[in-house]
Amino acid sequence: MTTPKTFRVILIKPSRYDDTGYVIQWYRSVVPSNTLALMNGLTLDCARRRVLGDDVTISVETYDETNTIIPVAQIIGELKKAGTGMVGLVGVQTNQFPRAMDLATAFRAAEIPVVMGGFHVSGCLAMLPETPAEIQDALNKGVTIFAGEAEEHLDEVLRDAFEGKLKPVYNFLKDLPSLEGAPMPSLPYSKVRNNFGEYSSFDAGRGCPFQCSFCTIINVQGQKSRRRSPEDIAGLIRASYQQGIKRFFITDDDFARNKDWEPIFDKLIELREQEKLNVSSTIQVDTQCHKIPRFIEKAKRAGVRNVFIGLENIHPESLVGAKKRQNKIWEYRSMLQAWKEPPGIHTGLPHRYTGVHRARYCDH
Ligand code: SF4
Repeated sequence: MTTPKTFRVILIKPSRYDDTGYVIQWYRSVVPSNTLALMNGLTLDCARRRVLGDDVTISVETYDETNTIIPVAQIIGELKKAGTGMVGLVGVQTNQFPRAMDLATAFRAAEIPVVMGGFHVSGCLAMLPETPAEIQDALNKGVTIFAGEAEEHLDEVLRDAFEGKLKPVYNFLKDLPSLEGAPMPSLPYSKVRNNFGEYSSFDAGRGCPFQCSFCTIINVQGQKSRRRSPEDIAGLIRASYQQGIKRFFITDDDFARNKDWEPIFDKLIELREQEKLNVSSTIQVDTQCHKIPRFIEKAKRAGVRNVFIGLENIHPESLVGAKKRQNKIWEYRSMLQAWKEPPGIHTGLPHRYTGVHRARYCDH
């Protein structure tokens, strides 16, 4: 009989350095990391399915460096003592890459397997003809690069890491997995409480039909709308609500172009109005969504409290130059008014609840 083992997966969402070299960190961070929640959900699914064999348990720990100090030395000590495990640097964006590399370098110096994913490495491999110097430097230090989406591929990476056979690069950019029935993002309340407003997150879908030239999203996640089922989303919300989590950042880069926006809103409305779950959300949309019949009306009934709208620029020529032709500044006034004054919706709520944020937040 073999000795049962535990393979420890440490998932870290790195922060970034400020101009003077300090790691930017908050008591409560503003934007929840959906990638961290997603990778946690996928790893827990691998653990449930015992992808490393019946005698191997997988444990997973998550750290969001924007609100938590990463105990690097402690993690190294524990993984060395256990003799097995890996570190995943997840959701690494371009401005976080230098910090991610410093973390990776510390772990690699202790010979801990490190895999790095996210939009910087995925975008570079998708869009550049040659591997850029900083990613080559990561490869030279023994950091494994993961490009693309992890659904349907995490089993392989965990098995390779467990067997000490990680490849230098996993490139799944050509595989855009279906999200129907895929494991949901999840983080426990003990982690969510570190986000401002105790916001949790989920992606209801991925992909955007527009063609903005500066956008990494469409080069990594494609232009076709892939989405989760309203029932899966309702299941996530009910389970979260039982833990006390009531606010959600829906991270679709353009929720208005999720082909199932209406059934998803209908399900959220049902949760709020029939099941009496007092849930609310933040979404990201484009400047044309006010023309979609019923969109704003249902958004308000579904509990949307904040919208991030990709204005980007108010100069028409710049917008055309960036292929952001859907943004027509002469329509912004009516668009903003449509959000500000939805007829009959939220009339009893404080003004701040119907406010529209003009800032563009992108997870890319
Ligand atoms: S609308 Fe947003 S997500 Fe879509 S292509 Fe443009 S920048 Fe990218």
